[in-house]
This record gives sequence, C-alpha cells and structure tokens, in this order.
Amino acid sequence: MIVVMKSQASEEQKTKVKERLISLGFDIHQSTGVNQTIFGAIGEPDGQITEMLISMKGVQHAYQVSVPFKLASRSFQPERTVIELPGGGRIGGDEALLVMAGPCSIESHEGLFEAARAVKDAGAKVLRGGAFKPRTSPYSFQGMGEEGLSILQEAGKTFDLATVSEVMDTRQVDLVANYVDILQVGTRNMHNFSLLKEVGKSGKPVLLKRGLAGTIEEWIMAAEYIMSEGNYQVILCERGIRTYEPWTRNTLDVSAIPLVQEKTHLPVIADPSHAVGYRDKVTPVARAAVAVGADGLMIEVHPDPENAMSDGPQSLYPDQFQNLMNECGQIAKTLGRQEP
Ligand code: PEP
Ligand code: MN
Repeated sequence: MIVVMKSQASEEQKTKVKERLISLGFDIHQSTGVNQTIFGAIGEPDGQITEMLISMKGVQHAYQVSVPFKLASRSFQPERTVIELPGGGRIGGDEALLVMAGPCSIESHEGLFEAARAVKDAGAKVLRGGAFKPRTSPYSFQGMGEEGLSILQEAGKTFDLATVSEVMDTRQVDLVANYVDILQVGTRNMHNFSLLKEVGKSGKPVLLKRGLAGTIEEWIMAAEYIMSEGNYQVILCERGIRTYEPWTRNTLDVSAIPLVQEKTHLPVIADPSHAVGYRDKVTPVARAAVAVGADGLMIEVHPDPENAMSDGPQSLYPDQFQNLMNECGQIAKTLGRQEP
C-alpha cells in the first residue's frame, strides 16, 4: 500500500507512521520527494489498516495500489528517476538522451580500445561489451570472462566512459560488479528471480532488458524484484520481443516505451541492434525510439563488424554510429530535449 505524508508532516509524525507499519508486519520503502514523503508498504493491506493510517497525524492519503508493482509505480514516486553515472552521464527525467555503445563481446584489448575511442568521439556516455555471453549454442564464443572485464574497466577509465556488461549468474554478480558501473541483466534472464535479487543487493545501477517473450507487466515486476532489495537504480531496456515475423531478429515494441514511462518512474531505453538484427535497419529504428521519447539507446558498434565474434551483422561501423548520433540528436532537439 502507499501512504502519502502531508508536505508539512513532522519527522516525528513520519516516524510514528513508519513504526506503526512495521509493527503491522509491513516492509517499508521510503521515497523522499521535494515536497512530500511517500511510504511504500509491502505486505497484506486491508480496509481497516487503510482507515487507521488515514486517521494518523501527518497522513494525507493512504491507499491500496491496484497494480502489482509498488516501488516502480508513479504512486510511490511521482517524479521520474534520474540515475547519475560515472563519467558525468545522467539518465531519466528531463536529462539528455544517453547512449550506451560498443561491441557485442569484448574480444581483445586493441579492438575494445578502438571501439571505445569511436563511441566516445561520437558522444556516447557508456561503453558496452559482453564478457559472459548468453549464446544459443554452447559451441559458440562464450566471452573472455574476467580478462574481458578488466579490459572494459581500463577502456572506461581511459576514455572517461561509464561501463556496462552482462551478468548471467548469481555467482558472477560480485565479480562483474567489481569491474563495471552498470550490471546488465539480459533478455534470457529477465525471469531469473535469484539473479534479480542478487543484482538488487549489489547496489550498482542495473540495466534490465525485457524478456524476449515477457509482457510489459512481467518486465516491470522483474524491476520490482531488484527494487525490493533496496536498489532503485534500474534502467529498463526494450530490446525487441519475439513475434511471428522472421524477417527481423525480433520486433521492437515501440509503444512499450511511452507506456512504461507513464506507469513507472524508471528510465527506459531502446536497443534497436538486438531488435532488428541487421545493420542497415538499426539507425531508422533508433530514430523511432527517440521519437517516442526513449531516455537513451544501446547500440552495438564494432571497428570491424565483418570479423566480430558475435552479432557482427547488426553491429554498426563507427561512421554509421556517428551518423546515428547526429540523426537521433536532431530528433531529440526537435522534441525539446538535449542532444547526447
Ligand atoms: C547483448 O546485449 O549483447 C545481449 C545478449 O542482449 P539481449 O539479452 O538483449 O539478447
Ligand atoms: Mn549482442
């Protein structure tokens, strides 16, 4: 349930409400806005408890939330979340379009540094690169593991870029969190509840991709898992869902972007690379995502895509990425947003 305190409520009144909720067995999460404090109380509410809370001093409103997600909802936090990243990037709310880019996999020191230089020059704020890869075949390249993470960390420091990399397993969370700024949960793991809880405990911002057959509500509930561990720094990523259409790798659900921004306060980005799967369609689809108001983009860029060890066909050449940044920047500007 949600308990909204009056703007003039005293600290003592807030403490009393909090203590009452705890004594009733609720788990309390607090959202402190500019004007108001809101408590998200996770437990089993009923009408009697609601009435009792409304009668307490300093309480403006108390109600049961009709959607199954609480902490991600706008009722818990009306203002949109802004996440600050190392390297000066900020994402969410009215912030500038934030772009994460780099190769699908980290393959070598030289290759990643070349990619990092290119994406930095074009205006990206976050360097991506997978070290643990979720490949369809166990015989495909599985990623460089810790060695790759160390290269990613060095490249991030060298080019003053924040870094993001996928974590596939609960046993890898501490290791990956030691090297990167943002933990990525991939599409295949959106329903891995143990992993969601573990990244929730890490304290690092989490990039949560939508499951390839996940509904919007299931996706937000996955974010709720992370947030229920006390980590509110969740960035949602629409990366295309599986449909009956075989001519693209997946189908970008463009309408999910403004919908999720309305239902939650979290930043929402789009990954057109994994959605379409073909290099020449990435930029047009990225433009569409920015036009509907995405807070950012994740784009695969490779200095030599023809020899990439994973996802070469959808990886942009650096000059194509520069072009994408120019075009998406113009759209952002037309919509009254800052360019990347
Ligand atoms: C990736 O980002 O390289 C990746 C594997 O993404 P997804 O989980 O969206 O397939
Ligand atoms: Mn990839």
